[in-house]
Amino acid sequence: MKPLSAAICLLVSLPLSVVHAADTPQPQTHGIVAANMDRTVKPGDDFYHYANGEWIKRTEIPPDRSGIGVFTALSDLSNKRTAALIEEAAKANAPEGSSQRKIADLYNSYMDEASIEAKGLAPLRPHLDGIAAIQNKTELAHVLGESLRNDVDALNNTNFHTPNLFGLWVAPGFNASDHYTAYLLQGGLQLPDREYYLSDNAHMRELRTKYQAHIAAMLKLAGFTDTETRAAHIVELEHSIAEKHMSLEENEDIHKANNTWSQSDFAAKAPGLDWAEYFRGAGLSGQQNFIVWQPTAFTGESALVASASLDTWKDWLAYHLIEAYGGVLPKAFADERFAFFGQVLSGTPQQRPRWQRGVAVVNGLLGDEVGKIYAQRYFPPEAKAEAQAMVANIIAAFHKRIDALTWMAPSTKAEAQAKLDTLYVGIGYPETWHDYSGYEVKADDTFGNMWRGSLFGYHREVARLGTPVDRKEWSMTPQTVNAVNLPLQNALNFPAAILQAPFFDPQAPAAANYGAIGSVIGHEISHTFDTEGSAFDSKGAVRNWWTPEDLAHFDAVTAKLAAQYDTYQPFPDIHVNGKQTLAENIADVAGISAAYDGYHASLAGKTAPKQDGFSGDQQFFIAFAQNWGSKTREAALRQQVLTDPHAPGEYRADTVRNINAWYAAFGVKPGEKLYLASPGRVRIW
Ligand SMILES: [Zn+2]
Repeated sequence: MKPLSAAICLLVSLPLSVVHAADTPQPQTHGIVAANMDRTVKPGDDFYHYANGEWIKRTEIPPDRSGIGVFTALSDLSNKRTAALIEEAAKANAPEGSSQRKIADLYNSYMDEASIEAKGLAPLRPHLDGIAAIQNKTELAHVLGESLRNDVDALNNTNFHTPNLFGLWVAPGFNASDHYTAYLLQGGLQLPDREYYLSDNAHMRELRTKYQAHIAAMLKLAGFTDTETRAAHIVELEHSIAEKHMSLEENEDIHKANNTWSQSDFAAKAPGLDWAEYFRGAGLSGQQNFIVWQPTAFTGESALVASASLDTWKDWLAYHLIEAYGGVLPKAFADERFAFFGQVLSGTPQQRPRWQRGVAVVNGLLGDEVGKIYAQRYFPPEAKAEAQAMVANIIAAFHKRIDALTWMAPSTKAEAQAKLDTLYVGIGYPETWHDYSGYEVKADDTFGNMWRGSLFGYHREVARLGTPVDRKEWSMTPQTVNAVNLPLQNALNFPAAILQAPFFDPQAPAAANYGAIGSVIGHEISHTFDTEGSAFDSKGAVRNWWTPEDLAHFDAVTAKLAAQYDTYQPFPDIHVNGKQTLAENIADVAGISAAYDGYHASLAGKTAPKQDGFSGDQQFFIAFAQNWGSKTREAALRQQVLTDPHAPGEYRADTVRNINAWYAAFGVKPGEKLYLASPGRVRIW
């Protein structure tokens, strides 16, 4: 699951009453929203527009957004609530060092634009001077090491992108899942993916020209000379890095990623970078082993450190530093940054109001402190109990479906059932919270707060290396509108913020709840068994628990699904990549199927009540498709197709064409556009 983006309207510095007035739930119907549907569309032709057409017609994308949908609406609500919590913290005058005070100081310092303007480049200056003072490649390696952060996540929140040379991910080990291990991932690019540098598409060529102009502009703002030449060299270097990168599709294959390198292997396998100095800079000299996700990229990038000129690397470092802290530098930097990354890259006309960016900063650096209060206030025990009952029904449905499979070997089935039995399902909020006592926040130092916050998070992760794994640890905050499967922990997280209408509403008919949040729950459980999940056993260890015959069958069936998605074309010159999105598409099909079973089990033989003339089964599928109602700007949608393991919402909604019960519910006939003859429908579990 991945939301589009977050937050709109409402200013934290407005009077509290206004915040609360806007926060009051609108009078609403419970269950599917019939007013969002376009009933002139035949469900069998275009189910997405049938379920969402009227909403799409009447909805405009706000100028400060690259897209809008159910996820953004709920994120808005979550952000408004978070903003109000922050404002309360600010008013409380809490004692120095307390978490409330940290929340307030972090937020207020970020909002103090006058002080940021007055300081100008001064906070950045010592760091730029440090880069300018680099004399040779050994010192360069040290500084590159110092820039390493825990800003990637290969399997949980799936983020393969870091602008730093490499990225660190600390997670249970592939081969020893009871202890935290260091994973290293490729990095070094500002643009979202290698394709942005390598593609010959006219649109991409134009983006590259604008990117180079943007680099020159940022360097100029920071007082550099010869900015055109420097920018050209930086783009050249990033182009060379991109050539060494593995594609997103390859990144998702964990069998290619399971490469253990000892610290001494690096010099032999990836010569060029002074690795001993790099690890010293990163504070990782004592770390014996690493899992290197993309060995060829490490070899290639390390060689580039040796072959590209020291001056180009220094300019690359300086530019990346300016970019990373653009949000807390004078307004001219943030504006130039937005002009490129917001307007050009995502097609978004207007920047978000600063308060919304401030909320995001607090969520990023003190997320659990806010989450603790959020969960207490907005997630009642009754909601938790009801969500747990749904989870139990859907897990039971998976048990039955696996039992009934004819193609899976008994030994494989046994491990699949064991995975279900030991699955930890976190509902609403975690059982333990992050401790931020070591994070120093100052009222008048926003740059320092960001700098120390990023280092604090990094040091916390490094300190965990080698310690025992807490399988119940969460990887999302309660105020996040999302859900996640953590394969190395055999665990799921459903934060409080997604367990709300329209996904989940205790007053809605079961049909709508199972169709909406039930499919999401089923989706996450399916990841336990899919292309990624099949590589991890019930203890989270990497172990192939499938027989070769099981795998051959699974690959054949899922190849059909990949081919189905390859046919979807949001624009004439690009199509969805069926392989890149395969795991998510499998999860959608499996999620609806299990949620549907769970729904029928919850009816216990009774006929479901109708709503707006729709039967229970119809409500179920409409609710599912309404999860995905969204509008996205062209540039952002193009970016999503290239870089996101999830297909665009429209095609996720249309995947109902793989489910037999959908044909019966809407009387879908041959000749209708989404119609698939029975052998073409993909059934996984
Ligand atoms: Zn997923």
